[in-house]
Amino acid sequence: MENGFNIEEPPAFNPDRLSLSASKEKIKNLQDGEVLFLSHSMAVVCESGQKILFDPAPEGILVKNKKTSQSLDLYPLSEADAMSTNPDNKTGKLPTILKILKPVQRIITGVPRIEEKFSIFITDDGQPANVEAIAQALAPEITALSVSHLDPDHFNLEFLDESIRANPQLKILVPLGFKRVMANYYRIPGVDSPQDKRPPFPEKLMEHLKTLSPLPYHSHEKGISDFYHLNLHQTQLGNCQITSYETPHLTKEYNQAILVQKEATAPGILYIPDAALSPEILLLVQKLVSENKISKICISLAKFQPDPIYDLFSPEKSKQLRDTQEEHLSHSAYIVAALTAVSGDIPIFDTHQGSFFRSARDERYLEYRLPTTTDESNTAPWKTQFQQFINQLIHKPEFQQLPVITRDKDRLELGKGPAGTSTRKAFSQEIQHYLQEHRIPKSILNIIHMPGPNEVIPAN
Ligand SMILES: [Zn+2]
Repeated sequence: MENGFNIEEPPAFNPDRLSLSASKEKIKNLQDGEVLFLSHSMAVVCESGQKILFDPAPEGILVKNKKTSQSLDLYPLSEADAMSTNPDNKTGKLPTILKILKPVQRIITGVPRIEEKFSIFITDDGQPANVEAIAQALAPEITALSVSHLDPDHFNLEFLDESIRANPQLKILVPLGFKRVMANYYRIPGVDSPQDKRPPFPEKLMEHLKTLSPLPYHSHEKGISDFYHLNLHQTQLGNCQITSYETPHLTKEYNQAILVQKEATAPGILYIPDAALSPEILLLVQKLVSENKISKICISLAKFQPDPIYDLFSPEKSKQLRDTQEEHLSHSAYIVAALTAVSGDIPIFDTHQGSFFRSARDERYLEYRLPTTTDESNTAPWKTQFQQFINQLIHKPEFQQLPVITRDKDRLELGKGPAGTSTRKAFSQEIQHYLQEHRIPKSILNIIHMPGPNEVIPAN
């Protein structure tokens, strides 16, 4: 037992099943400043009458115990499936992670598994809704769709394609590397030879794309400030201003946070997809808060509960891996605590739960990953001290201008030299060690909420 949880017994996991018609109705009625949380990282943000659907990944692969038929895990589709608009391609392809882990899991757990397609949405008669039906229901209610990065738990090309059919006015905001990744799967008309055997990239989809990037594609090029007049990182939807920021996360071809504002000077909603505990993200939030540009933060993190990741390791080994690898490279748990030092009292909505990777939604689990205390007698000085610590840390010269980790080619440079991962690791570990020595008064975490499926997060 640790923190009151029995880590031998994985918590029950029931993937979210959302009523498609209820989601549609809620999007229709969504008001300015509100966010409709759907599941995992899927959410609809409403500002200035514009409704933007973030990171739609409506289906996955459910893995069950063959003997008991009990659900064990829901994994996202394979990368190939997420990249595909052709339903014929969807034949039994497993997510890469599952392909690697499945044989090992069998050896370790001895549990035979079955996999089946799983839709996060259900129709009124209780049947799983397919991607076409989901797009037909939701796309007419939204003005834009935004993809933060190209991991299959955040992205489904078939859904994008079907959404444009259902709503020909729809704008699609994608990261800079999008077209390049698509070029591996599709023939790009006007770029590739017509003899190229790959299917043509859906023309309609191409017309609707708007690529956003705060960084140039090639790492040797200069930063966005040098191209600032081009506003590559911004776009406008009616009066609504959309701004993208780089968010370090070990992913394929780019990861970006998006700020949605009613207008350029109004506080808006900052949507942060999967994020590592990086100086960049803390500096960004500190800057935006000082400019009064954020009203709430939605951030998707790793799961907090104590059971092992992917059933593969012991809970202790699993925790160690998460603390030493996930923190500085991919999904941080400590980042929500760190954010409290730079975000003022802005509410933080922690997502990435409810569907994939058996991520249960339970605020009590925060205590499993984060060192907390019930002693509230020194909360005010604790807060001030932690703010000072974070403020000094993020401005240290060695943590400025670290190499980009959100692009495939830059990741190759990661292990090289002190400016790479080791510096990122040192940064995240300084924060972890600080919090282990100065345990977090529980009330500090009160600004963190885990929204439920189909839950409307109110305007302030
Ligand atoms: Zn994710």
